[in-house]
Amino acid sequence: MNITIVGTGYVGLVTGSTLAELGNSVYCVDIDEQKVEAMQNGKIPIYEPNLEEMFARNIQAQRLFFTTDLKEALDKSEVIYLALPTPPGEDGSADLSYVLGVAEKIGMLMTGYKVIVNKSTVPVGTAENVRQVIASKTTIPFDVVSNPEFLREGFAVEDSMNPSRVVVGCSSARAREIMSAIYQPFTNTGIPIIFMDEKSSELTKYASNSFLAVKITFMNEIANYCEKVGADVDKVRLGMGSDDRIGHRFLFPGIGYGGSCFPKDVKALIRSGKGENFDFQLLQATEVVNINQKTILVPEIENYFGGNLQGRRIAVWGLAFKANTDDIREASSLDNIRALLNKGAEIVAYDAIAEDNVRRLLGDQIEYAADMYSALDGADCLLIITEWPEFKNPNFKLMASRLNNKAIFDGRNMYAVETLEQNGFFYKSIGRRTVE
Ligand code: NAD
Repeated sequence: MNITIVGTGYVGLVTGSTLAELGNSVYCVDIDEQKVEAMQNGKIPIYEPNLEEMFARNIQAQRLFFTTDLKEALDKSEVIYLALPTPPGEDGSADLSYVLGVAEKIGMLMTGYKVIVNKSTVPVGTAENVRQVIASKTTIPFDVVSNPEFLREGFAVEDSMNPSRVVVGCSSARAREIMSAIYQPFTNTGIPIIFMDEKSSELTKYASNSFLAVKITFMNEIANYCEKVGADVDKVRLGMGSDDRIGHRFLFPGIGYGGSCFPKDVKALIRSGKGENFDFQLLQATEVVNINQKTILVPEIENYFGGNLQGRRIAVWGLAFKANTDDIREASSLDNIRALLNKGAEIVAYDAIAEDNVRRLLGDQIEYAADMYSALDGADCLLIITEWPEFKNPNFKLMASRLNNKAIFDGRNMYAVETLEQNGFFYKSIGRRTVE
């Protein structure tokens, strides 16, 4: 099948490469000329494990193409995926201008039947919105389908090639047949494709992300309470997770969720609710708790230094919003760095993958270290923000010799408390005993 993907970011590029890997010819369209030119030259614009090989293989096989010309791609394809940004607007609602803007162009440029497949995360009713916009520009028949994306950055290739399910919101038999054909390689191996109406499909995405945000936040509150009463969240987590109604996943406490999806999707669902006079009380609380959680270690660091961070040099390990991605959108690192800089501290950060993105944002407001240990040279303490694998089993003796103070503030509970105790560190993590 010939398929166009409009928007070649994290979702678009992974979806495009996956569909090409499954044998389709895929035309990726983006308005970012530099990005398109780089991709045409075989250069991948994002970091995502295992994507580069798949990307290169499909370019080589002439199944994956890049262009800024929407018309050229439309003429070649019957199926058009939208993987466009839906960032939060000022009131928290999803900004649909990218999706509706492209829909309008499709309406103006299409010359034959198309299925428009929306992969962007959008509020209930957007499929209908897109339909109306296109219909206002053309009399040619078309269908609009909702096909939310559930991939996780860091595991996007794995998730895209082997999804837990495919959700398709669709009310046309013709489009349903086409979607079934695209996903036949998945259904063939037992991966379910769940057909439903467009509204339910659109809400499935928000409900899934919001549920996960609530689950993380619930555990963060339990962790904070553990500290008050002297319980150990690691034990509580294991005890809870063994109940298969709860499960072990997403029970790890930390310094809040970030990224391009959870914060904006929770916000957008709250905002959509307001539009219907509906109060998502649980989600409002989740948002507030998460915002506080992101910088929960800042006052702890301040206390450690007797309430004054002026001139203190703080090493930060990890800048990405989570491990295995270069994405820093809504990353806790940014909240912590800004809060610490405001209090007069100096920051020296290390992140092998996300550094460039932070440099573009913060420039020389902070220093960047070439490796994890040199970040510690002359630093007064270490703050761990991202659970990168390379931080999991460090050389504590070397760390102790390079830090000014043997003090670690760990936002990801990377280490056993006892290990840090044996190595003579001050160690503050989340929901566990502090080693003084
Ligand atoms: P992104 O910002 O990484 O990529 C969007 C791309 O669209 C960019 O390359 C941008 O240049 C391009 N673009 C913008 N306007 C365009 C236009 N008019 N024509 C062509 N291209 C245009 O975004 P993303 O992270 O891939 O997210 C896309 C959508 O998927 C969002 O709605 C997001 O919520 C959703 N989503 C994201 C993830 C994720 O993990 N990133 C997961 C599931 C769903």
